[in-house]
Amino acid sequence: MNRDFCYKLRPMEETIYKENRLLRRKLDSLLRQARTNEKKQELFDSFGFEIIGTNSPAQLRDLLLFQMQARFQLQDVILCIVDYDKDTDRLFYGHDEEARAIFQQKFILLDTEKNKDKIKTLRPCPSLGSKVLDQYSWMVSELEDHELLESAAYLPLIRTDKIIGALLLVSRDNGRYQTGHGTEFLQKLSAMTAVAIENCLNQQRVKEIGYQDALTQAYNRRYFDLRFKDEIERSLRRDEDLACMFLDVDHFKKVNDTYGHHIGDLVLMRMVALIKEQVRACDIVARYGGEEFVVALPATSLDVATEIAERLRLAVNSDTQKYYDKNLNISISIGMTTLKHLDSVDRKDSSAIASALIDRADQSLYRAKESGRNRVVIYLESWE
Ligand code: GH3
Ligand code: MG
Ligand code: MG
Repeated sequence: MNRDFCYKLRPMEETIYKENRLLRRKLDSLLRQARTNEKKQELFDSFGFEIIGTNSPAQLRDLLLFQMQARFQLQDVILCIVDYDKDTDRLFYGHDEEARAIFQQKFILLDTEKNKDKIKTLRPCPSLGSKVLDQYSWMVSELEDHELLESAAYLPLIRTDKIIGALLLVSRDNGRYQTGHGTEFLQKLSAMTAVAIENCLNQQRVKEIGYQDALTQAYNRRYFDLRFKDEIERSLRRDEDLACMFLDVDHFKKVNDTYGHHIGDLVLMRMVALIKEQVRACDIVARYGGEEFVVALPATSLDVATEIAERLRLAVNSDTQKYYDKNLNISISIGMTTLKHLDSVDRKDSSAIASALIDRADQSLYRAKESGRNRVVIYLESWE
């Protein structure tokens, strides 16, 4: 038998064989595609669960603006939020100035008055492609190398038919986001993000209420005790000074006795408002008890803190606010000390440092009262 003949396929069989090979290749490619999609789906799903599971705005911010970029290999992610309640900046950053500086290019807050025109451009439907970069150029203009961006996905964030913001995923790859590509994954992601933002902000608002003094809107003592320890640790790490002031209204009992408790309350509210006007957002103003307040000023030397204390004293004493047509002459006394003036500090024991600072500020306040009130007194070692 001719062996060559055995291995030779007849033309018909050869065609079938080729078609078979082609089909198998197609099938392999489809399977590979399905596996990639499955992996993508898994990645999206687990990321979605993480987004929903976040319990603070700061955690959500980091997840969306750092983790998402790395996990989905994006050039950048921009989050834009309409600041309907004028509290978004505070809720997302609190006193974290470092984070504010890090995220300012990619985390855009839109003021409902000042940024009306930009808010109007936020469409309720997602869109993909290079044209998105032109359409929303104001979202990317602050990014470094923004001119190298080639494609983007615009995802609106919607809650109960209201646009609360948008996510912009940007890439240097022209083919990454193209018009006509499916947006199912991305729509799911934006829906989850919108829910997570709303939840986190509400959770943070509830937390803040628990940290606030209901009458004066100053922080309460519980909050002060927590934050003060953090600020002490941060100041020690950075080798910065930290000022601590104790404030007490002079002859406040007389105000209550003469004008009534209600006017006394108004005086306290007014005093806190005046103090808040004079200090920075990163300073902590808290009601320590009754008509006694504590102010902590991070990264503030004794000299600067003395000027600020004097400014606070003057702001209250020169206030011309009338209370039901009555002119009240209100004054406060202030006792003050700073971290750098504490010697032999056990750097690890922030609670002990906090107590020592408060005790010294309180002793100074006592001296201010004793020496005539309406004045600032700085703690002196020689008192010990
Ligand atoms: P001094 O100059 O020595 O501080 O005198 P003072 O009268 O301010 O001091 P004292 O601590 O004896 O009185 C504080 C008063 O503050 C007594 C208390 O009834 C009043 N007070 C405490 N909390 C409130 C409040 O929330 N509202 C009002 N209206 N009064 C308060
Ligand atoms: Mg008093
Ligand atoms: Mg008092």
